[in-house]
Amino acid sequence: MKLHQAALPTRTSVVLATVLFLALVGLTAGAANGERLIARIVWAGMIAVMAGRVFVTGRISRWRSVFFIILAWAFIVQFKATLIGLTGSAFITPDIQEVPYCHIAIASSFLNHLYQQYLAFMSGAWRQWSPLTWGVVWLGVTLVLGQAWCSWACFYGGLDNGFALLRRKPLVKWVWLPKGVRDLPAAILIAMLLLSLVTLKPIFCLWVCPLKLGTGFLEPDQLTRKLQLLSFATIGIVFLVVLPWLTKKRAFCGLICPFGAWQAFVGRLNPYRVQIQPDRCTQCQRCIVVCPTFAIEREGLKQHRVLPYCNRCGECMDACPTDAIGYSLVGKPFASLPPKTARIAFLLSAWLIGGAVSMWFVPEVMVKLWRWVAG
Ligand code: SF4
Ligand code: SF4
Repeated sequence: MKLHQAALPTRTSVVLATVLFLALVGLTAGAANGERLIARIVWAGMIAVMAGRVFVTGRISRWRSVFFIILAWAFIVQFKATLIGLTGSAFITPDIQEVPYCHIAIASSFLNHLYQQYLAFMSGAWRQWSPLTWGVVWLGVTLVLGQAWCSWACFYGGLDNGFALLRRKPLVKWVWLPKGVRDLPAAILIAMLLLSLVTLKPIFCLWVCPLKLGTGFLEPDQLTRKLQLLSFATIGIVFLVVLPWLTKKRAFCGLICPFGAWQAFVGRLNPYRVQIQPDRCTQCQRCIVVCPTFAIEREGLKQHRVLPYCNRCGECMDACPTDAIGYSLVGKPFASLPPKTARIAFLLSAWLIGGAVSMWFVPEVMVKLWRWVAG
């Protein structure tokens, strides 16, 4: 494969991959033993190899996608296996109605969390209030990764990414969005925040989230359940499967997910950006064509602008013929930094956070597979 301008020397790539491996093992292997420990070390090694390939080839897309898709499907398998372990069924039962806390709910029910926070502080119950803990974890991840969560650690993103890669070329060419449509996730986010607060219910989880197809329904009323089922199935089939498969665009992440809009807003706290270098850009528009989430618009490109919705996937960087687009640190054009500094810093952060998140469930699935194969 032809090397990209961003390729690093082999020795530097090996050193960076080794640092990543040691950091992942150090961060996550401590509490495990036996086959779990082995699985964690093996998975950390696989992440280091994938990251090493990105460093040494200078191309991000292939190995980020492989990692991201494994993360997503391992999450689904582990989630189901845990549910079966808890309830004896692959679906939520009347006895156990708790679903795992999900990052998308942080965005769509944020006002409710604030209200609960207020009630918890007033009643002295805040010590047992777990969403607060998740809020702190989310803030830490956002400070390090920002919007990159959506291309390096989110299970929905991994599913969307996987279906978008099923075809080599799009069956339906979809490059532009009508004006204003790119802000649909922001509109959905505002609607979810307000509806959740008014009803005191997590409206995204109850009416939009396709993952609920595989869990169960919290509403006892039969007609309401059927309508929920219809909504989950329609959104899942159209935006997670069919549109990505037909167009190679990540339609769920780009058009539906309120968490993407939320991260586009709060992710500004994060130091990494994607920037276009005017003196190198030839306006060839390849970045627009390959961007899976419509984060570069025609008018914006003329002013060398990338939308805040960009989730740092790196597809545009692989495709750009003049190396005009790349990671930068806030306030610093990447040309003003020592060569590739921002790129190396970002990629290490992304592999580290995405890798640490995947450590919760990929090694568990590896152990399950091993036990199944070994009988
Ligand atoms: S692919 Fe590169 S050169 Fe072409 S328009 Fe995008 S940033 Fe400019
Ligand atoms: S602008 Fe580039 S890095 Fe950002 S989402 Fe689009 S392809 Fe990915």
